[in-house]
Amino acid sequence: MCGIVGYIGKEQAAPIILEGLEKLEYRGYDSAGIAVFDGEQITIKKTVGRLKALVELTHGGSMMPGNAGIGHTRWATHGAPTDVNSHPHYNTKETIAVVHNGIIENYIPLKNKLERRGYQFVSDTDTEVLAHLLDYYYRGNPLEAITKVMHRVEGSYALGVIFAEHPDRIFAVRKASPLIVGKGKNGCFIA
Ligand code: GLU
Repeated sequence: MCGIVGYIGKEQAAPIILEGLEKLEYRGYDSAGIAVFDGEQITIKKTVGRLKALVELTHGGSMMPGNAGIGHTRWATHGAPTDVNSHPHYNTKETIAVVHNGIIENYIPLKNKLERRGYQFVSDTDTEVLAHLLDYYYRGNPLEAITKVMHRVEGSYALGVIFAEHPDRIFAVRKASPLIVGKGKNGCFIA
């Protein structure tokens, strides 16, 4: 069982997300990663192994500026536990980042279709299909793209998504997987 944490607010996001992921460590995982929008672009750091390795890689999150981001601890179901297969996953332009808990059952036909349209995959995960499919449907409106993707994917999932063109929002959807949203004075959370 993996874990998802997202934060957007007044504080630096990365240290808060890492702290949240620590609280979900008990669920078990094989790799961890984080995506933060730094004001210009989405930066992703991810690594196989313990969360501690990600904390070290990002200096406790301090080397990742930005007030909005998503993090993940992965329990591999599709693709070996490797750095590349760890979440978050990007679209090719690196303008959309996705973390996913669950399984996309029809990812093979979707992947074949996207490859025929020129999309190149870098990982073996079912999750990467979501990043490219969001890219395919995105015309400036994230909710519209997410809704279209939800109509096409089968399976169970909780997703956290950020769009570089919408730095003031993080997006979360779920189907048959648990997901909660928290709203506070200084920020909002998903987990
Ligand atoms: N199915 C996805 C993968 O293998 C997500 C697994 C999870 O829930 O951590 O990458």
